[in-house]
Amino acid sequence: MPIEAIVGANWGDEGKGKVTDYMAAQADVVIRYQGGRNAGHTVINDFGKFALHLLPSGVFYRHIENVLGPGAAIDLAALFEELDLLENAGVPTPRVSISDRAQVVLPHHSLLDVLEEERLGGQSFGSTRAGIAPFYADKYLKIGVQIADLFDTDRLRGRVESALVAKNVLLEHLYDHPKLVVDEVLDGLLQHRERLEPMVQDVSARVHDWLQAGQRVLLEGQLGALRDPDHGIYPFSTSSSPLAGFACVGAGVPPTAFERIVAVAKCYSTCVGAGPFVTELSGSEAEELRERGGDAGEYGATTGRPRRVGYFDAVATRYGCRIQGATEVVLTGLDVLGYLDEIPLCTAYSIEGAQVREFPTTARLDGATGVFESLEGWKTDVSPIREFGELPRQAQRYVEVIERLIETPVGWVSVGPERDAMIRRT
Ligand code: GDP
Repeated sequence: MPIEAIVGANWGDEGKGKVTDYMAAQADVVIRYQGGRNAGHTVINDFGKFALHLLPSGVFYRHIENVLGPGAAIDLAALFEELDLLENAGVPTPRVSISDRAQVVLPHHSLLDVLEEERLGGQSFGSTRAGIAPFYADKYLKIGVQIADLFDTDRLRGRVESALVAKNVLLEHLYDHPKLVVDEVLDGLLQHRERLEPMVQDVSARVHDWLQAGQRVLLEGQLGALRDPDHGIYPFSTSSSPLAGFACVGAGVPPTAFERIVAVAKCYSTCVGAGPFVTELSGSEAEELRERGGDAGEYGATTGRPRRVGYFDAVATRYGCRIQGATEVVLTGLDVLGYLDEIPLCTAYSIEGAQVREFPTTARLDGATGVFESLEGWKTDVSPIREFGELPRQAQRYVEVIERLIETPVGWVSVGPERDAMIRRT
């Protein structure tokens, strides 16, 4: 059964949007299985440049069914804003399905996210303030609202009323904020019902049918392995699992159906928000890499925040590929490094005088420094190149050394943000 996952091996922002848009040409279905509008997947194609947040990156193809699975966080206003944005840009109306079991981001989720980050001040987690942590907390507290609940007004009212009892105490007494009113919350949700209805599907049943019919299903992860709440840099993690393994839960696909797991890794490092980041650069070295990186500098696609940047971290990326179960890697951003005479690579961490090659817990990461080796740079623009053998010898070697360090085959090298700027390695 042909399921492929496209997931991040780093801290997010590896280029999964571009890779999904590229690979979706061969697929029938693209499913987002976790996260919500906090994603920022940049896609550059014939329609223009887009930062997709909630929608799967298959929306530029008419033949693709774009699915938000039960594990996704559905912010209805954001969903329709994004669909309108595509329409205004001349993109043909995409086919979108939303699981009836997916849950809805409620007004108190976004509000509490903002208020809590403000309360934490300098101790904040660098949330995108899209309500994602309160959303998943409430899901597991069992006070969330499923998409199906929107079509049963009495049930919806009961769910919202009971959730707001506790939330209003918090709003009023911890955050000194006016209480939310049940009727206003309901009106806000119900105004989207009509437009939403044709998209609502029993996604579990559809997934079964698609697989039975041999359709090619792409699973699109958000963020990266190091943001996983269990395996990543907790508490600077996200609130749902970005691992391919979680797609079995968040999309409802059988674990036995995976054909390949493609981990996207950048050939340097970037990280948005707070948390330990061993290879982080500062000063003019950081500024130069930040300005040269991405499609127009390394700035968050959702928040516009400058990304923290550093050289390639083989300890973190090997670990990221391993916990993703990656069968292949797409190494992105090779075009970015063409300005460097020598390119440092972090091959181990030094922690309390010992060399460490296994990715440690956050408590130990705080004291870690990188151990670097340097490779010769290629000092040329590789972005027009489409054959691996035509890359400068130094660039080929850089890819080969990374491949050895991360213990995962590099199947593609990306040499630019555009859809076709890809080199397939055989
Ligand atoms: P995602 O969340 O993993 O989809 O990543 P983002 O879209 O947040 O960030 C990746 C950035 O890198 C975007 O600006 C992309 O346009 C850009 N990008 C992707 N692949 C390449 C590449 O090979 N070279 C360059 N220069 N930029 C790339």
